[in-house]
Amino acid sequence: MDNNSFEVIRENLRVIRENIGEALGKYRSSGDNTDIMAVTKTVPAETVNCVFDLGLSLLGENRVQEYQSKAELYDKRADVHFIGHLQTNKVKYIINSMSMIQSVDSFKLAQEISRLAVGNNKVMDILCEVNIGGEESKNGISPDELGGLLQQISSLEGVRIKGLMTIPPPADSDIYLGRMQELYNRFRDEYSMDTLSMGMTHDYVQAVKYGSTIVRIGTGLFGARNYK
Ligand SMILES: *Cc1c(COP(=O)(O)O)cnc(C)c1O
Repeated sequence: MDNNSFEVIRENLRVIRENIGEALGKYRSSGDNTDIMAVTKTVPAETVNCVFDLGLSLLGENRVQEYQSKAELYDKRADVHFIGHLQTNKVKYIINSMSMIQSVDSFKLAQEISRLAVGNNKVMDILCEVNIGGEESKNGISPDELGGLLQQISSLEGVRIKGLMTIPPPADSDIYLGRMQELYNRFRDEYSMDTLSMGMTHDYVQAVKYGSTIVRIGTGLFGARNYK
């Protein structure tokens, strides 16, 4: 970890915070806030660890195996959420080390989280992932089926619904982010939700406009991903 990357990450984060602050001031009520999650995929643990001295503590993990190879190396201040597609048979590897699973999109997955949470004497916070653009290539429950899924999940022990998550289509951000805000507002009170996770490097400013409470930033913080 050279000093140079720390300075680059520090400057990236300064700009992100400035942009979020501006959007909050323009579009949201006073007192509203949006947290920044550092999305770690492909980024070495020592680089990820730069963020803790810059005041971030929330990390987003996409892959169970990659997380397992890095978890030991992360700063002890890390608060980790799972944000990738999660296979039912892998829940057991993250149930005790993560504080939220943001990518729940089936009752079967929620049932397994419930079973393991109860077995480990804990309550796992979850978000339901919504495929707001109806894209074939994306995970997530369709908006039409969301109400039914929430109702089913709310009967499970060991699982607490905190809100919704989405990865909208890259184009027409405003339309899809706006639809997510409507969905969130429709279910928020009924399920005591407080989390709307949306916004990535290319659309986080618009996401703040439409009520995001967590933006998930990878490339905008750490630079372009280096897939090997
Ligand atoms: C990779 C990823 C992000 C971050 O994407 P960037 O464009 O690099 O900011 C956010 N959310 C999820 C679910 C991701 O997989």
